[in-house]
Amino acid sequence: MKIDLRSDTFTTPTPGMLERMFKTSVGDDVFGEDPTVNQLEHKMAAMFQKEAAVFCPSGTMTNQIAIKVHTQPQDQVICDQRSHVYNYEGGGMAFNSLVSAKLIDGDRGRINATQVSSSLNPDDQHFPVSKLVVVENTVNKGGGSYYQIEEVRRIQEVAKNNDLRMHLDGARLFNALAETGESTGEWGALFDTISICLSKGLGAPVGSVLIGSKKCITQARRVRKVLGGAMRQAGFLAAAGLYALDNHQELLVADNQRARVLGTILEAQSYVSKVHPVDTNILIFELDQLAPQHFLNKLSEHDVLALPFGGQEIRMVTHLGVDDAMLDRFEEVMKNMKL
Ligand SMILES: *Cc1c(COP(=O)(O)O)cnc(C)c1O
Repeated sequence: MKIDLRSDTFTTPTPGMLERMFKTSVGDDVFGEDPTVNQLEHKMAAMFQKEAAVFCPSGTMTNQIAIKVHTQPQDQVICDQRSHVYNYEGGGMAFNSLVSAKLIDGDRGRINATQVSSSLNPDDQHFPVSKLVVVENTVNKGGGSYYQIEEVRRIQEVAKNNDLRMHLDGARLFNALAETGESTGEWGALFDTISICLSKGLGAPVGSVLIGSKKCITQARRVRKVLGGAMRQAGFLAAAGLYALDNHQELLVADNQRARVLGTILEAQSYVSKVHPVDTNILIFELDQLAPQHFLNKLSEHDVLALPFGGQEIRMVTHLGVDDAMLDRFEEVMKNMKL
């Protein structure tokens, strides 16, 4: 039994998803003629009570497009120091948009309104123009932490009063909503643009969607084109996304719950010095003395895969491909590890 806890991106399409992909109608989406892509874009715009949406190959692309749409060269983006847009997109905001980042040290990646307020630059030629706030929910490097919506409302107030745009990197927003019960409409009202990954916990093979006003998304299509992200018969992929939204959203509650079970199992092991709080489907823990690579090699001998996460930290992520039988097997492996 292989237990792949490296990332929720390792899921492969289920038979039901494949069937939906095979059967769907497609057309040339660059001409706006792919009915399935259109359906997905309309559905997601409506979910977040926005005017429009655009289907893209990756979450990196939807984030990078959003930054480009909201900024001019020389502007500054306010985000947490752990954020995906800053750490894991190849320096894209500098490369694509010629902007700098003002980094906040938030609470497990969650910034607050006071911090945003004090990050604003004065209106003076020495300083870059503060233009955009990026909020990540859930926070990947924060171990799957999620925001209290009241704090995001306070950030929105600061943004409104200071002429800042707001972008949500909601790669795993649905894992947060599975915990809070909040609606997509409530979250849509807080941001100018929202990026959602279909290829994380939702379990589609490829694709992310950027959602916003008609004006933002029209501009986003231009940027997607120049980045090479305008696809042709992309409806096969959009069909997987539609299937995921219809069938996999409700499974995220169980993913989050299984991550908590993993946390409990790990807490009981002598070689684990700390398990970080488990809020959603990401779990970060620290090894006591062991070298992380040695530990990961031992794990993989038992067909359990995880990722090193810097220092003594290891990251594990639950997803569609992890079931309860695997949790039992995992506990057995962890208890009997000869390290
Ligand atoms: C995965 C992820 C993305 C997008 O990643 P892609 O691999 O480019 O789809 C963006 N933000 C966060 C927080 C992520 O975890």
